[in-house]
Amino acid sequence: MARGKPIYEGKAKILYEGPEPGTLIQFFKDDATAFNGERHAILEGKGVLNNRISEFIMTEIERIGIPTHFIKRINMREQLIRAVEIVPLEVVVRNVAAGSLCKRFGLTEGEALPRSIVEFYLKDDKLGDPMVSEDHITAFSWANPQEIDDMMAYALRVNDFLSGLFSAVGIRLIDFKLEFGRQYEGEMMRLILADEISPDNCRLWDSKTNEIMDKDRFRKDLGGVVEGYREVAKRLGIWRDSDERSDTNGPVLVASNDGNNR
Ligand code: UDP
Repeated sequence: MARGKPIYEGKAKILYEGPEPGTLIQFFKDDATAFNGERHAILEGKGVLNNRISEFIMTEIERIGIPTHFIKRINMREQLIRAVEIVPLEVVVRNVAAGSLCKRFGLTEGEALPRSIVEFYLKDDKLGDPMVSEDHITAFSWANPQEIDDMMAYALRVNDFLSGLFSAVGIRLIDFKLEFGRQYEGEMMRLILADEISPDNCRLWDSKTNEIMDKDRFRKDLGGVVEGYREVAKRLGIWRDSDERSDTNGPVLVASNDGNNR
């Protein structure tokens, strides 16, 4: 599938014009950044794993009736997606205390929260993605009250569903970040899930040992980042050791492992 001009390059992905109007191609890079870009590394194979994991999760989420931008995976590093107008917010759902929540409220990492908590952050690297209230969101027109309700409801449904999906393979879903986009169809507009869902934007701990299997391995300089992501993919049943050999920078791949639409 021919991709068009690059239209946006982010920290971990590049967006290209898609083959049809209203579509884009999302390319997963191996770049990892943390602390607002202060730490950067190339982690060979990360993009391939995130493409695969995000494909699987988005497909499962569609299956429970939540609309997403995902159309199909094209090859090892690219997926076809619906073009959306990104809502400039990051929606974080938390089940267990970790990261910035611990710093803000003096909690111990790993403490179970009394209930799942949804937070909104403004997507703005220059400002360091500040946390915002619903009043900020509506006053500055980043989203309207109906969209806030929809994002909260979708986020909690995704949380329930993913908590179960990961729990079944021995992984605790500590927290995660979602992004939403507006899709226009004539006069109609609907909110759909966008971006990616992968160990880059989830905290995932082994249920028995609490071993970290997500991007915190990079943030905390623990090493074995790609190994952690690979273990997540293996447990989800979407990665085999033989997939290693087909890890390339481009769409060249071993057909036997990539033709199964997973
Ligand atoms: N997160 C993300 N992108 C961001 C900030 C956070 O994907 O720019 C994810 C992060 O991986 C974690 C959750 O959102 O799963 C909550 O992150 P937190 O607010 O604790 O921030 P952090 O400690 O990661 O800076």
